[in-house]
Amino acid sequence: MQTKMKESEPILEVNNLFASTDNLPILKGVSINVYPGEIHAIMGRNGCGKSTLSKIIAGHPSYNITKGEINFLGKNVNSLEPEERAQSGIFLGFQYPIEIPGVSNLEFLRVSTNARRKFLKQEELDTFDFEDLVKEKLELVKMDSAFLSRSVNQGFSGGEKKRNEILQMALLDPAIAILDETDSGLDIDALRIVASGIKKISNNKMGIILITHYQRLLNEIKPDYVHVMSDGQIIKTGGSDLALELEKNGYEWTDNFVKEN
Ligand code: ADP
Ligand code: MG
Repeated sequence: MQTKMKESEPILEVNNLFASTDNLPILKGVSINVYPGEIHAIMGRNGCGKSTLSKIIAGHPSYNITKGEINFLGKNVNSLEPEERAQSGIFLGFQYPIEIPGVSNLEFLRVSTNARRKFLKQEELDTFDFEDLVKEKLELVKMDSAFLSRSVNQGFSGGEKKRNEILQMALLDPAIAILDETDSGLDIDALRIVASGIKKISNNKMGIILITHYQRLLNEIKPDYVHVMSDGQIIKTGGSDLALELEKNGYEWTDNFVKEN
């Protein structure tokens, strides 16, 4: 589908990626290229491998790449540590953000932001300057500053955790943001706020991958490409209309889909 001539280099190139955990194959040849300014959606049934793909791009240690490669900004990152990937601009908003008891959210955000700023050769921020920056970013997701003094995600509702992920994204200013079911657990008002936050954070240098089951997020953020996954493969790629088709027809047809060529 991506036949348009691109003027720039891709931010992310996933080439024929195979991956497994405990010798159980999960990804069975995934390819996806994301260019600056593009928004890609990945859709598909539960269990088809969407979260695994996102975690492998972010460097999760539980999975082994058995074939294929991940190139980020022109460099193979297959063997980079997760923190190196994060600092260099790969951001993953988790489907299930973890709680970190005893670690202040503000301090967590400051340390990760400074690691990213250091990589970008920007000045690191002390507590006072960071508070100014974070307050400005809180506005984007309409989060109360009280969430900063709590432990990371501890006792946050599902929706609050998702907003906290987007707050992180705003602070880290990634080159590629992979947002895994950021819309799940959000009511319609929260969904609009989060979607508008993502749109304000995005820019023409950033690539975004939205993983979602639902059209409702894609009504707010229109993707350039929609990819359908089934059993560890992308079986179909189309434009934003493909998401509407899925909404209408469901995912059942994807179960026994035989990939063209
Ligand atoms: P999706 O996000 O599309 O719902 P996942 O990527 O979470 O799917 O999971 C894909 C498949 O891989 C599922 O069958 C899941 O049970 C399996 N899987 C993922 N991670 C692990 C793991 N760490 N150990 C065992 N099985 C896993
Ligand atoms: Mg998932």
